Amino acid sequence: MAGLKEPKVIINSDECKGCGLCIDICPENVLEFTKGFNKMGYHPAGYKGQGCIGCGYCFYQCPEPGAIIVYKKGYIEEEVEA
Ligand code: SF4
Ligand code: SF4
Repeated sequence: MAGLKEPKVIINSDECKGCGLCIDICPENVLEFTKGFNKMGYHPAGYKGQGCIGCGYCFYQCPEPGAIIVYKKGYIEEEVEA
């Protein structure tokens, strides 16, 4: 069953260069640097796991194409067959 979902953000940590622009601009303060290192040696940004409102500011601020995906409220999650 497909369903309507709450907003969320996914960060592709290996595409992130750790600039922090997304963290600074997020109005809900739901992004933070993660403790680990990515393959380029940066601490990538990560989602705290809740509170994203799907505004997309982080997506537009990020200089790295493909590092951030924002799912706006009501997106439809397709069921993936195992
Ligand atoms: S979409 Fe908006 S609220 Fe969600 S993480 Fe990005 S800047 Fe923050
Ligand atoms: S703006 Fe993009 S590159 Fe910069 S910390 Fe956020 S996800 Fe990483």
